[in-house]
Amino acid sequence: MPVAPRSPPCPRPIGILGGTFDPIHYGHLRPALELLEALDLVEVRFVPCRIPAHRGAPQITAEQRLALVRLATAGQAGFVVDDRELCRDGPSYMVDTLASLREDFSGIPLCLIVGADAFRELHTWHRWRELSRFAHIVVMRRPGPSKPFVPVLEEFIAPRRADPVALRRQLAGGVLFQPVTQLDISATDIRALLARGQSPRFLLPETVLAHIHERALYRSLPTPAAVTL
Ligand code: ATP
Repeated sequence: MPVAPRSPPCPRPIGILGGTFDPIHYGHLRPALELLEALDLVEVRFVPCRIPAHRGAPQITAEQRLALVRLATAGQAGFVVDDRELCRDGPSYMVDTLASLREDFSGIPLCLIVGADAFRELHTWHRWRELSRFAHIVVMRRPGPSKPFVPVLEEFIAPRRADPVALRRQLAGGVLFQPVTQLDISATDIRALLARGQSPRFLLPETVLAHIHERALYRSLPTPAAVTL
């Protein structure tokens, strides 16, 4: 029996980690590095949003959050900061970001990286089914068994389940659950520590913390009025 020719592998994929990064912390950085290495990504692009579509307004400006992301990622080979969402008006929809990245990187697999908690809400994202037209989805998950997702997500995942090799065989469309070291760190907790005058040291890079102190950021929790869009 002749063996069917295998389609040639695509180039190494690009990872895309979107977020509010209010502020960026080791819970973002360590898993991103692990994915860079485990999936042999060309790079991980950190994409801070301008106006988050699915939550209240961030506590500091997009430019300030971008500056913190630049500080956090400086010097790490393969970490790239992408400010395209700051250049767009309106809510920062990931589907628009992926469409724009697809135009820039036409022949390269794209991997949208999301935390397991964010993935559970994927079906509430703007035009969420279209995400997989432009990119694979890589879910950073805890090692061990995971709870089922809502039925609409389970149906979405079933035909798309991929392994790391599959991410190199097509440009988009797979869903991969990749175990990473889980660090129970959240930007919410860091903001709360800072507002109480306590130290978030060792939860985020020293350079980021120094910048936060220099600019007197996160000195108080936002009032309800400040968190509406
Ligand atoms: P907040 O506490 O303000 O909601 P956050 O710490 O969850 O913020 P985001 O900027 O909202 O940070 O997260 C960006 C992406 O990183 C999301 O996909 C989110 O699921 C993921 N993420 C955030 N914290 C962690 C963590 N500790 N481990 C793994 N993934 C994380």
